[in-house]
Amino acid sequence: MITSAGKRMGLSSQEIQELIAPAEMRVARLSVSSGRKVLNFWCVVALHNMACGPYKGGVRLAGDVDIYETLELARLMTLKCAVTGTEFGGGKTGIRVDWPAIYALHGKDCVRDRDRGFELDITLALMERYAARFRPLFERHEYIPAPDMGTSPDHMAMIFNVTRDPASVTGKPQNMQGWLPGRREATGWGISRATTRLWQKQGREPKDCTFAVQGFGNVGSYAASFIAREGARMVAVTDILGGVYDPAGLDVEGLREYTLETGSVAGFPGAAPMELDQIYDVECDVFLPAAIGGCITDRTVPRLRCGAIVEGANMPVAASGVAPLHERGIPVIPDIIANSGGVVASMEEFSKSLSAAAIEREVVLDIVTNRIETAVERAEALALEHGVSLVEAATELAIRRVYDAMRVRRFI
Ligand code: NAD
Repeated sequence: MITSAGKRMGLSSQEIQELIAPAEMRVARLSVSSGRKVLNFWCVVALHNMACGPYKGGVRLAGDVDIYETLELARLMTLKCAVTGTEFGGGKTGIRVDWPAIYALHGKDCVRDRDRGFELDITLALMERYAARFRPLFERHEYIPAPDMGTSPDHMAMIFNVTRDPASVTGKPQNMQGWLPGRREATGWGISRATTRLWQKQGREPKDCTFAVQGFGNVGSYAASFIAREGARMVAVTDILGGVYDPAGLDVEGLREYTLETGSVAGFPGAAPMELDQIYDVECDVFLPAAIGGCITDRTVPRLRCGAIVEGANMPVAASGVAPLHERGIPVIPDIIANSGGVVASMEEFSKSLSAAAIEREVVLDIVTNRIETAVERAEALALEHGVSLVEAATELAIRRVYDAMRVRRFI
C-alpha cells in the first residue's frame, strides 16, 4: 500500500524505501521469576517513524509475535497517527508469551488448568522488567507505550511504577495519576462511529442492521456495546475459546458480564454455540474483525456473507484478501481510521499527563468522533478523485503527511 501510494505521489523508489524502513529495532531478552522457575521472554521494540511526533504504539503479548509483524504494526501506527492528524509517530512492542510452554514448565496444562491470576502475576512482573529495560525511552517520551492484545491498563500501571512519569505511558487505569476518562472505550467508540456512519451513508437505520464480531476483548466488546446501543443486532461473536450465534440478536451487555465472570463468550446461555472458523460464514451487514491480523485471506473472502468490513483489529485483511474483496465489491473501512480512537484518545491522555488539566469523557469521545469522521470524509474524497479504494486513499493521505514532515525535518 505504501509503495503504490508513493508511486501515485510521484516519489522515487529511494524515498518510498525511506518511508517503509524503520528508524530502529531493539531486541531484548526479559527474565521473570515464577515460583522457583525462571521464564525468559523475547521482546522486540520497533521504532518506525517519528517525523510527526514521538513513537507511539501498544505492547502486544502473544505466542506468535515476531520481528516482522511487530515492525508492520509499528508502520501501521505511523500511518494511523498521520491520517487522523495525531501528533505521534509509529512504534510497537511485541513480547512472545508462549502460555502452553509456561504451563508445561509448571507441570500444568494451559486449557485444563487455566488460571487467570497466575497469568496476570506473570505478565505484570514481565511489564516491570520491560519498563526497567527500556526506561530511558519512556522517560524521555521517545516511545510512549499503551495496551494492545494481551495487555490492559493494569499492565500500564507497572510501567508507570518504574518511570513515575504519567506522560511516559497511556492507557493507564482509572483514577491513577494522568488517567483519561473515555480512553478505555475510545477504540470501540470510534469503531461504532465508523460503522453507524457507513449505514447512514447507505441510507439505512442501525435498527435494521446486523453485525458479527471476531474477538470480544477491549476493542470488540466496547464496539459491540456502542453499536448495539444504536439499535443494531449482534448476531454472532467469537473469542479464542469459542463462539455463540443468535440471528435474533445476542444480549451484548449480558455477554460482557458473562465474559468478565467466565473469561469467554463460549457457553453463553440461550445462544447457539459456534466454531471459531464459522464467523466468516455469518450473514450480516457488517463483519467486525477485532482480534487477530491476517485472517481475511483469499481462502476466507469467498465465504464472507457480510455487506462491509470495519477493521477493528490491526491488519485483519491479509495481502491475499485485498483483490478478492475488491472483486466481490465488499467495502472495507481501514484499520488506520476505524480503530484510531485509542491513539486519538492517547494524545489527549498524553497532553493531560503533561499539563494535569482535567478533561471530561464526553469531550474525549467527541474528539474521537470528529477525527474519525474527518479522516473518512477526506479518504472518501481522495478515493473518488483517484478511483482507488478507501484503504489506498487513507494510506496516501497518511503518507503525504509523513513525507512532508520528513522533508521539512531533513530526514529525506
Ligand atoms: P484483547 O486482548 O483485549 O482482546 C482480544 C480478543 O480476541 C479476545 O477476546 C480474544 O479471546 C480474541 N481472540 C484471540 N484470538 C482469536 C481468534 N483466533 N478468534 C477469535 N477471537 C480471538 O485485545 P484488544 O485490545 O481488544 O485488541 C484486539 C485487536 O485490536 C488487535 O489487533 C489490536 O492490535 C487491535 N487494536 C487495539 C486497540 C486498543 O485500544 N486496545 C487499538 C487499535 C487496535
